[in-house]
Amino acid sequence: MKKDNCIFCKIIAGEIPSHTTYEDENCKVILDINPATKGHSIIIVKDHYDNFFELPEEKATEVIKVAKIMSKKMADNLQCDGFNILQNNNEVAGQTVMHYHMHLIPRYKFDKQDLTMETMQPSSEELLETKNIIIG
Ligand code: AMP
Ligand code: ZN
Repeated sequence: MKKDNCIFCKIIAGEIPSHTTYEDENCKVILDINPATKGHSIIIVKDHYDNFFELPEEKATEVIKVAKIMSKKMADNLQCDGFNILQNNNEVAGQTVMHYHMHLIPRYKFDKQDLTMETMQPSSEELLETKNIIIG
C-alpha cells in the first residue's frame, strides 16, 4: 500500500535517501532530517496509513516493539538520559507528513530542548464536565 506523492512512501521505496538505523518487515527507522536533539529518529510503518486512527492494531503493536528495541539501543549507544516518544495526528496537532510515524527523541541532561506544553487550570467542575463529555 503506497500513496503517490507521499515523502515517506518514497523513503520506504528507496526513491529518497535516508539514514536508516533499523528495518524489518513492517517498519523502518530513520534519522529525522530536522532533529530536535542528537539522534532524533522516526519509526515509519512501511504501508501507508494517514495517521493513528487508520493504523491497524497489529501494526501498532509492531511499532511499539520497534520503539522498545530502538529506545534501548539508542539509550545504550547515544548515552542519553531519557526520551520523548510521541506522534502527531492531523495538522492541528502538528502532523506535517501524513503517513503514520512515531518520533523517538533522545533527551540529554543539558540539551536545552523544551518540549513542555502550556497547560490550563480547570476548576474541579470543569474537569467533571469534561469527564462526562468524554464518557458520553
Ligand atoms: P510530524 O510533524 O510529526 O508529521 O513529523 C514529520 C517529521 O518528518 C519532521 O520531524 C520532519 O523533520 C521529518 N522529515 C520530513 N522529511 C524528511 C526526510 N526526507 N527525511 C527524514 N525526516 C524527514
Ligand atoms: Zn505514505
